[in-house]
Amino acid sequence: MKTPHILILYTGGTIGMLQDAETGSLKVFDFKNIYDQIPRLSFYNIKVDTFAFQHPIDSSDMNPGDWADIGNKIMEFYDQYDGFVVLHGTDTMGYTASALSFMFNHLNKPIILTGSQLPLGIARTDGRNNMINSIELAAACNEDGTPMIPEVCICFENKLYRGNRTHKNHAENFDAFASPNYPVLAHAGVSIKYNKEYIRKADNLPVELFTDMDANISILKLFPGITPNVVKSVLQAEGLKGVILETYGSGNACQSPWFLNLLREAVNKGIVIVNVTQCKGGGSVDLGKYETSLELQKMGIISGYDIITESAVTKLMYLLGKEKNIDRIKILFNKSLRGEISIG
Ligand code: ASP
Repeated sequence: MKTPHILILYTGGTIGMLQDAETGSLKVFDFKNIYDQIPRLSFYNIKVDTFAFQHPIDSSDMNPGDWADIGNKIMEFYDQYDGFVVLHGTDTMGYTASALSFMFNHLNKPIILTGSQLPLGIARTDGRNNMINSIELAAACNEDGTPMIPEVCICFENKLYRGNRTHKNHAENFDAFASPNYPVLAHAGVSIKYNKEYIRKADNLPVELFTDMDANISILKLFPGITPNVVKSVLQAEGLKGVILETYGSGNACQSPWFLNLLREAVNKGIVIVNVTQCKGGGSVDLGKYETSLELQKMGIISGYDIITESAVTKLMYLLGKEKNIDRIKILFNKSLRGEISIG
């Protein structure tokens, strides 16, 4: 069997930090010395190369241009490697993973994002384990030699998640990510157990990358007492093309006429509004289940079903960038493009 060849891309974040012996402050680690930092890597029959972006950033500074840089770098090396591990800050990892999942069409190799809660240079770091698991998962092959996980994933604390189903849900625990509406794809215990029926199948068409995301969108999160001025300031923002409306429960919103009128006006102006639930623990929007969501459905607000906010934001940016026709955007939003919602 040929030795799998994996490329690690370092974008920034806690995982790449080491403590300076003299000053005690954290500084970026030189990824060329990865085998010194993680000697266990050399026991694997996996060849690892590294690439570090010139200016590593905290993931709070990530934007669609950075997603495009990551996508382009992977595309540049796509044929040379069997899989990719992206080291990334945890804070916005769910957004980047979701964005990459939409940007790559017909992906047939793994792109696994990982990071850590404690820097690599700290003795109790979770980074070493996360990185080793990610490399092993990125190198995993089926019996016929094809990659086992041909999709964008997040690997954290011994679990492999679908990238566009996963969000950061804890600021301190090592177990910092959750995929509320989709099972884990693999679990690394004594051996790695794959949940094969939930892993996407590659379609063997040539991979394509689309990076022209349109970021003219907003998130409008409802709360009791929200005022007309606040809703107006979002829905009437100049250049706005889409809104992720974070509603209560299974897609419910207040029924005040001023609120419904502002939404109706926005929809009639051609702004795409997607209803997603605020419930972090999971579940789905079910428009029309209660009277409080029926009006939203009637005016042309679309259901996000069980999509999570990170995925909804990046899917909307992707569709607005790719499609000019609003009806088509609405149709595509209601389809599972990369396994991000639980309908066909
Ligand atoms: N603020 C850091 C980041 O997201 C935290 C981390 O790396 O986990 O880049």
